[in-house]
Amino acid sequence: MLWDCSELGLWRRPLAIALMFGLVGAPDPAQASGPEAWLRATFPVEGFAGYTSGFGLRFHPVDGGVRPHYGLDIAAPLGSPVRNWWSGVLVEVLQGGGCGNGLVIRSGDYEHTYCHLAGSAGGSVYQSGSVQLQVGQRLRTGQTIAHVGMTGSSTGPHLHWGLRYRGAWLDPARVLRAMAASRRIQVPRTGPPPKVGTFQ
Ligand SMILES: [Zn+2]
Repeated sequence: MLWDCSELGLWRRPLAIALMFGLVGAPDPAQASGPEAWLRATFPVEGFAGYTSGFGLRFHPVDGGVRPHYGLDIAAPLGSPVRNWWSGVLVEVLQGGGCGNGLVIRSGDYEHTYCHLAGSAGGSVYQSGSVQLQVGQRLRTGQTIAHVGMTGSSTGPHLHWGLRYRGAWLDPARVLRAMAASRRIQVPRTGPPPKVGTFQ
């Protein structure tokens, strides 16, 4: 099932090809920051249930047109906690439009965007359950910042997670792969596997 985020307003058809060239040429954070740096990051949602739509050009599920998708859609049950990917400052609360309830958090040269959130958003305040955030607030890595919802243009509960580096959209999946790789590096090496069938 392809969950539709294409109404996010994050694309413009006439610029699609030019933007895609820009995306291809975007800096690679995994190269730029070194593998250990990614240990500080948190996977942005609990209750992971799969990736439903990746980053880049895709066929629109309704009209068949080809449009860029500036983010990664991560399916998760309604109400699953959304985790702050990296410590930073809440710079914008989004409401309405394709994104629905959304948050934009700045962490140095990165901006991470979270869409289709549960709860309510108004002005500079976002609220969901016991979570209440205000623009300008500092947020810790891994902090619960929201809950998965279906606000905006969404046909199923999922988190749309967008990531920009110095203003250029990145493929979040590349960052998640870099995070996974950094964790594998940290796994201590063990000795050779035990021999089988030598019970004594
Ligand atoms: Zn999306």
